[in-house]
Amino acid sequence: AAAARAAAWSGPGATADGHRVELLANVQDGASARAARHTPAAGIGLFRTELCFLDRESEPSIDEQAAIYREALDAYPSTKVVIRTLDAGSDKPLRFAAHPEEANPALGVRGIRIAARDSGILDRQLDAIVSAASGRDTPPWVMAPMISTAAEAKSFAAACRLRGLIPGAMIEVPAAALLAESILDHVDFVSLGTNDLAQYTMAADRMSPDLAALTDPWQPAVLHLVARVAAAGRALDKPVGVCGEAAADPLLACVLTGFGITSLSAAAPAVATVGATLATVTRDDCRRAAAAVLSTSDPDAARTAALEVLGAQR
Ligand code: PEP
Ligand code: MG
Repeated sequence: AAAARAAAWSGPGATADGHRVELLANVQDGASARAARHTPAAGIGLFRTELCFLDRESEPSIDEQAAIYREALDAYPSTKVVIRTLDAGSDKPLRFAAHPEEANPALGVRGIRIAARDSGILDRQLDAIVSAASGRDTPPWVMAPMISTAAEAKSFAAACRLRGLIPGAMIEVPAAALLAESILDHVDFVSLGTNDLAQYTMAADRMSPDLAALTDPWQPAVLHLVARVAAAGRALDKPVGVCGEAAADPLLACVLTGFGITSLSAAAPAVATVGATLATVTRDDCRRAAAAVLSTSDPDAARTAALEVLGAQR
């Protein structure tokens, strides 16, 4: 493994000196998964399954779910596909999920928290994923949204392993970033959802245009948490991806690479540009840019610091 890691990579996602960052695509159904094949993405880093069911009155059957998941898996039959379990609630309520009346849905029962009220929904979705993946040689990676405790990661991982699925956790709540090691003890990988991580770190609604400066992923407080999670992944030798909007920003993608992030998953139109930018910088440039942003205290200073290190190469 060490030799494989050291070998220079020249495909998509290679830095100028041959370090590989896995480039993946964010998708929401079979059509977008097939469209991603026209980009340099090597697989799918985030399949937002809840988006398939926003208009449903009742829960789709296991067979119906399996047919939809199979379409995405078939788009990448032999490479990595990361399926996210339903991230229902807040901005994406599902009529068939157990949402209580709540004053602050973004801080309420959403994502994996629904499983604590109704574990059947999660169990049936995992069964559907198993059925969709039958006959495939690489098992799908499955991750839970809105993990905030190690106990949630542990119980999700158990439900996945029971079925032969590879379990992961999204890190999008600051508590999870701060305890990344404890979460990584239970799961095989984590993926940073920087959209929600910025919202919860900055206590600023990600949907509010008035607060866009606060939810900027270049906020140094957010970047410190990202760097922390990347370090935890390195320490435990487990993959740490980024699948929020931060991964679609070419300059920030270089900084994330410098933190030691192992995969970047972005909307299909952004994948090629991110890959092309990585090809112009070395891993050492990325590391220097990463160190520079961590010594700043506001987003503009962070951008400027990264550009000072990487600008000449871009
Ligand atoms: C995120 O929060 O960054 C993320 C990738 O998930 P979503 O945008 O679907 O909440
Ligand atoms: Mg999220």
